[in-house]
Amino acid sequence: MNKELIDQLIRNHPLLTEITQLKEVMWINEQYSSAMNTSLSIEDIEDAALRLQRFAPYIEKVFPETKEAKGIIESKLIELPKMKESINHLPGRLLLKCDSHLPISGSIKARGGIYEVLKHAEDLALQYNKLSIDDDYSKLTQLQSFFSQFSIAVGSTGNLGLSIGIMSAQLGFKVYVHMSADAKQWKKDLLREKGVHVVEHTSDFSEAVAKGREQASKDENMYFVDDESSENLFLGYAVAALRLQEQLKKLDVTVDEKHPLFVYLPCGVGGGPGGVTFGLKQLFGENVHCFFAEPTHAPSMLIGLMTGLHEGVSVQDFGIELRTEADGLAVGRPSGFVGKALEHAISGVYTIQDNHLFALLKLLADEEGIFLEPSALAGFAGPGKLFSSDYLVHHNLRLNMNQSTHIVWATGGNMVPEQERKRYYDKAVSVTSEG
Ligand SMILES: *Cc1c(COP(=O)(O)O)cnc(C)c1O
Repeated sequence: MNKELIDQLIRNHPLLTEITQLKEVMWINEQYSSAMNTSLSIEDIEDAALRLQRFAPYIEKVFPETKEAKGIIESKLIELPKMKESINHLPGRLLLKCDSHLPISGSIKARGGIYEVLKHAEDLALQYNKLSIDDDYSKLTQLQSFFSQFSIAVGSTGNLGLSIGIMSAQLGFKVYVHMSADAKQWKKDLLREKGVHVVEHTSDFSEAVAKGREQASKDENMYFVDDESSENLFLGYAVAALRLQEQLKKLDVTVDEKHPLFVYLPCGVGGGPGGVTFGLKQLFGENVHCFFAEPTHAPSMLIGLMTGLHEGVSVQDFGIELRTEADGLAVGRPSGFVGKALEHAISGVYTIQDNHLFALLKLLADEEGIFLEPSALAGFAGPGKLFSSDYLVHHNLRLNMNQSTHIVWATGGNMVPEQERKRYYDKAVSVTSEG
């Protein structure tokens, strides 16, 4: 993008000056209206949920950790009383959605990523008459040699690679994971142990995705999971909303005009938080307010939405380098599909510095005994950013805040090895002692 255009964007959007200076910002969406620009609907989400139900007997059989939930891949929604105290004066309830502890791959990618692999496997098995929709899907364990004729490719900063790699390899597919430079060594090691072909790149996420796409385009038996524009990934994430609705009922949480729901979602390329937002908007309409969180070093969705240029603009265009320990969010160019679909539905986007992610990592571990990876802590800054903005006044929500509920979406961490956790915690200690 040329310098003149960049300068013009900065003149039109003064917040861009602070963003390029890597300051934490809170951007409120002036186009907010709850309307969505997509042909996808609640029926598509329900269809995805039914597909996951069909696969449940298979999942239960091959991943014993899902036995208790009968093969349904779901996480808890829990109250955080001590964190609520630490977040000064937060009225209402503070809940944590523990996608960090989702079975199989320990991150929100166990929703979209695994769903897309299952959908592809079902499509193939139906097409080749290996399966009928009324079968007990646990028979898929016998189709490994059938699936081995096909392959799957994906580009990832790590966690999507884990979910696609683990699920595809289990079914019998050949699978290629193109990892960006940010990807952690332990994720690559773990995948290789499972027989996944890990292709390492020295470039960023967008490049890794491009490499995977290119590889798949040359092989008609290779399916590409496109993190930048896949509707299937999106729908897999969106199923979370149906499940959350039930969990909220169990916790006696009402969501209506007088009981607003606020959800804070860490954002990388946008598919995960976007899918969840899409699902929640279908169910709760204007009574749910979704905020996305990005590192100050990777505000891609923020810049895409604010300028309306979506995937036509990258953080690198503004001289921002993807230097963050939040590897799951280290994305320079947002998904255009998600940005356009949700340009009115997202309430706002804020950014957070790595030091604050680490301070939150320590606080959550000390107060509640919960470990999350740095990316997954971005949601905790949400309530503070919200209360210091004019969003509540603007939307006439101030009087209802005592009856409000705030959900911080914890997006990953359970797979992180002990040694890495210790390294993160030690870093958090040194960061917080510096003041
Ligand atoms: C992938 C990821 C996200 C964000 O999901 P996107 O679809 O990339 O926006 C957030 N947190 C963690 C830990 C992730 O791995």
